[in-house]
Amino acid sequence: MECPLCRHHKTEIYNSRQSSGRSYVWRRRRCKSCRKPFTTHEAADLSFLTVAKRGGVQEPYTRLKMVLSIYQACGYDESYAETIETLAGTIEANILDLGKTTVNTGDIADTIMTVLKRYDPAMFMRYLSYRSDFTSMQQLKQQLQEL
Ligand SMILES: [Zn+2]
Repeated sequence: MECPLCRHHKTEIYNSRQSSGRSYVWRRRRCKSCRKPFTTHEAADLSFLTVAKRGGVQEPYTRLKMVLSIYQACGYDESYAETIETLAGTIEANILDLGKTTVNTGDIADTIMTVLKRYDPAMFMRYLSYRSDFTSMQQLKQQLQEL
């Protein structure tokens, strides 16, 4: 880890915290040369992950698709950009914690819903309403009752 201020190569960790999942870590580091502190966010690397879609098609996981679906739930409001990055980090950590190398689109949607429901029920309901495979009113009512 290089110091962002002076580019020195030696830094030390003096504090760290894990998110609710195991895979997202926040660390406070200090440069050994200029002594300036800075924060790093170490997110999960999901480049190994394969997504199995309905109909048997498989494709590599892309963070962008997941992030875009949350943007949609926020009505593409750019003021949510930072919040969405944080939520995306939590969601990816939770996906990694499933311990699978192949997930289906439902696994990802369930993880997104769990995180959104905890963060903002209104955002969660909007996400739900955009889900194309969530057509049953009965299911929608059930989700509403659980809130
Ligand atoms: Zn430095």
